[in-house]
Amino acid sequence: MPLSSLETLQQVFGYEAFRGEQQAIIDHVVDGGDALVLMPTGGGKSLCYQIPALVRPGTGIVISPLIALMQDQVDALTELGVRAAYLNSSQDWREAREVERAFVAGELDLLYVAPERLLTDRCMDMLSQGRIALFAIDEAHCVSQWGHDFRPEYLGLSVLHEKWPGIPRLALTATATSATRSEIAERLDLNGAPHFVASFDRPNIRYRIIEKNEVRRQLLAFIQAEHEGDCGIVYCLSRARVEETANYLCEHGIPALPYHAGLSQAVRADNQSRFLREEGRVMVATIAFGMGVNKPDVRFVAHIDLPKSVEGYYQETGRAGRDSLPATAWLAYGLQDVVQQRRMISESAGDESFKRRLGAQLDAMLGLCETVSCRRQRLLAYFDQAIQPCGNCDTCLEPPEAWDGTVAAQKILSAVYRLWRERGQRFGAGHLIDILRGKPTDRIKEYGHDTLSVFGVGADLSENAWRGVLRQLLANSFLAVDHEGYGTLTLTESSRAVLKGEHTLMLRRESEKKSRSSRSTGGRSKESAVLLPPEAQQRFELLRTWRAEVARNHGVPAYVIFHDATLREVALESPQTLDDLDGITGIGVRKREAYGEELLRCVAGLPVL
Ligand code: ADP
Ligand code: ZN
Repeated sequence: MPLSSLETLQQVFGYEAFRGEQQAIIDHVVDGGDALVLMPTGGGKSLCYQIPALVRPGTGIVISPLIALMQDQVDALTELGVRAAYLNSSQDWREAREVERAFVAGELDLLYVAPERLLTDRCMDMLSQGRIALFAIDEAHCVSQWGHDFRPEYLGLSVLHEKWPGIPRLALTATATSATRSEIAERLDLNGAPHFVASFDRPNIRYRIIEKNEVRRQLLAFIQAEHEGDCGIVYCLSRARVEETANYLCEHGIPALPYHAGLSQAVRADNQSRFLREEGRVMVATIAFGMGVNKPDVRFVAHIDLPKSVEGYYQETGRAGRDSLPATAWLAYGLQDVVQQRRMISESAGDESFKRRLGAQLDAMLGLCETVSCRRQRLLAYFDQAIQPCGNCDTCLEPPEAWDGTVAAQKILSAVYRLWRERGQRFGAGHLIDILRGKPTDRIKEYGHDTLSVFGVGADLSENAWRGVLRQLLANSFLAVDHEGYGTLTLTESSRAVLKGEHTLMLRRESEKKSRSSRSTGGRSKESAVLLPPEAQQRFELLRTWRAEVARNHGVPAYVIFHDATLREVALESPQTLDDLDGITGIGVRKREAYGEELLRCVAGLPVL
């Protein structure tokens, strides 16, 4: 008798119950239906095709663009007793031929294939000789020409439907705006298939957005105070910044590795593998890193440059805390980010509608940064989902103060207006603030700006406060960056209303350098994530040492053996018999057989290996 879906979940994967939409999706696919699945990163997409592949006769074909990760996925499944294999360009022909043979002979539950490989005649021919349970198209947003993950081969995947009309197809992605969603359905010929949209909330992630001043020091302080020894990802905008930041962290005792498209394939693969296999590594990367990396114990994701869209930001931060234990999403953001990104958009190649699209994405991101209400509410609203204030983001935990910035804004806007007449020159934000604060610098004297009527009218606010006002004006488009005028600040349509006093501007008060050190909104996540009662903690350490050894022997990342969450539960429960292991998350039949005795010995403090 084949197992039911729920039995498969419990016995193979060792999980008690389905999450959210999983059950509905799995039932639908087991019954032969097509579907489009939208779940946040870490939401549990893989089970949505793995379980139907096990329950339905034949092999589940998983199309994934991530060759470098197929090995780990297959290893993880093999540890669970699932018959899985992959076909990609990293194999020699002998290995590939053996996989093909196994598929045709019906010896595989799951087969991972890269899209370019799938579309070859040889692969098509092989597929028609075996029995297929389903097609899972992972990272389905790669079909979208607007996204930064676009892969042209994905466009060829509609052929699956033509050749195998009766086989269910499942497209999965964490990219959820309705535009991307309809593009996926369209291009993959999934019109008519139901869309399963899960909640995009990831309640265990604490969102924090701080003002940027000395960002590397802020980052270091954040890691040291809250995530010492934890595994994390730091996102930067450019390759140079990746290198610089990774070096800086290493010099300060944080084991960081760089990752960006300028490194050779071999170095990237090596750094990725170390990140996955070694404990407590910090990956400093451009957004080239991370898709498909399903390491469950990433405890923080930090952005030291402003992401270009909420969608991208949400995917990147979603890589934290897949194991449901507390994790932090930390972003440092400042005036320069706004200026730089506005400039990049206007200088980008592309027509007006393209630029407008980028501009709107940036505005949404800025709205999130400047909001005085719950960050999570704002994030989920972007995906059309409503929630109550979450209690687990910086604005909920420490509501920011708002102040009436109308007069300050008027001062800035009139200074900008005065300078605009000299737009052939490049006067940056610093110069503008010097004028307002009445600082007689050489440059100010050179241009006679100390004679302007606005000179010194803003001595009442600190430089930091002025930067905050300026940033918020830019973020809300009361000011713009003019490109023909060498990046000079310029007034916009909406500036007029503020200048005339028709518009009251409530601004977020800047915290005077408070953000440098760790604040009360931080810190706690570490404690609740890591601290167990002393005896359990001791058992946990023993279990981790044992796991590291087993992982090394098997040549797999530690989490492929057991997740931290599982070891924590074992450490807490302190099981005495194999039966006591039942019901512990992540211990299915196979793992109980393979490791049950060793877990018990470990818990009892007996030598194991
Ligand atoms: P993604 O949607 O990003 O592909 P994954 O499929 O990697 O997410 O799942 C995220 C994590 O949640 C994994 O560690 C997975 O084992 C775990 N998980 C998924 N579904 C369940 C469940 N029903 N019960 C317990 N853990 C689950
Ligand atoms: Zn909140």
